[in-house]
Amino acid sequence: MLARLVAHLRPLGPAGAAASAPAEEGGDTTPWWDGPVGTKRTYLHPVPGADAWAPGRGLPTLVVRGDRPGPTLLVTAGVHGDEYEPMAAIQRVFGELQPAELAGTVVMVSCCNVDAYLSQSREAQVDGANLARVFPGSAEGTLTERVRAPAPSPAP
Ligand SMILES: [Zn+2]
Repeated sequence: MLARLVAHLRPLGPAGAAASAPAEEGGDTTPWWDGPVGTKRTYLHPVPGADAWAPGRGLPTLVVRGDRPGPTLLVTAGVHGDEYEPMAAIQRVFGELQPAELAGTVVMVSCCNVDAYLSQSREAQVDGANLARVFPGSAEGTLTERVRAPAPSPAP
């Protein structure tokens, strides 16, 4: 199950290899608020920044939009990259939720700290930062600070 969690991600090597970081994998980049009603889908929510690391560290995001309108629930896991149980729980819940039975939207980020996950560690290896200690983050900061930067949101 864990391999499926971030199967579309791959290690990028040590921080010194940043210049060779690959572009983000192709695929759906539609943000959660623009996805079609009555569907389940996954995508990589982008990390802000134009350096070589950001594209390979997008947040695996699982979205279930119910057939009927309603509130939005956000669930996150993997603030620390070596805490696997909540990541696996999100996968299980995503598998069980059915749009026809749901009013509203469930957005689940199965791994908030992809850099730490890829190195099976608590802190990100790129900058040594602890994601739980960089709130509120900065769009111009290190990779970890940018993960915590205020996310874009749907138009009112
Ligand atoms: Zn933690």
